[in-house]
Amino acid sequence: MWRDGGFEDDIGGGRFGQDTTGLSGFAGAAKVGCMNKDATVTPRRKGKAMNLGEVRAFIEALARANPSPESELDYHDAFTLLVAVVLSAQATDAGVNKATARLFAVADTPAAMAALGAEGIAPHIRTIGLWQGKAKNVAALSQTVLDQHEGQVPHDRTALEALPGVGRKTANVVLNVAFGEATMAVDTHVFRLGNRTGLAPGATVRTVENGLVKRIPADLLREAHHLLILHGRYVCKARKAECWRCVAAEWCKFPDKTLAPQGKPPKPG
Ligand code: SF4
Repeated sequence: MWRDGGFEDDIGGGRFGQDTTGLSGFAGAAKVGCMNKDATVTPRRKGKAMNLGEVRAFIEALARANPSPESELDYHDAFTLLVAVVLSAQATDAGVNKATARLFAVADTPAAMAALGAEGIAPHIRTIGLWQGKAKNVAALSQTVLDQHEGQVPHDRTALEALPGVGRKTANVVLNVAFGEATMAVDTHVFRLGNRTGLAPGATVRTVENGLVKRIPADLLREAHHLLILHGRYVCKARKAECWRCVAAEWCKFPDKTLAPQGKPPKPG
């Protein structure tokens, strides 16, 4: 499932929101050495930049541990993916799936969604954050897809970003997941990992995105998008990285790697 919600850029804010991005199927842990016991991790602690060989090795280690990451957002085509991602800003994926289960049961095409309108969409999504604005955006983007793109989600960044409620991050998700492009959607997890690990340090979302796209080998880039989100969600967590079970620790530049909590032996990889 795609858990989004890392930034508000798609709904107009441009800052970090709820830390909910994630995908299913993550597996991957390993013992690591040279760690500081129970070191407290903050997003401001950075590792120096990896070299390109280390970047490849880091991503390949994640890929070996999780060869088939799958989106956990419920969708069945590009349009329902687009709607789900737009709804996922500052909402959990479980919450989005509950809402879209109701919403897609009555409307899962641009025509049906546009006919439903914001007032008709709103009751189905009231359980997720920012539902009023999202209802308006989903209705408006559906109408735009109908009017300007013959009812098809456009396979084009500029056209996607012109849709109501769709910013660069959502466009990157749709281009990657629906159209198979090697894009890098930088949410809160990816931003943190880019800096913490030394994969692509940068002060802004765009700097980290550009750095990752430039530094990750092309053959790994599309997959890396999913792998980094998973790793940030389940291992390299915001409040405390679980370095003792990280399969990529050998190449990570984070200076404050953590040991397993006392009494809890490291989980095998
Ligand atoms: S969990 Fe892995 S990637 Fe994250 S800081 Fe620890 S060693 Fe580095």
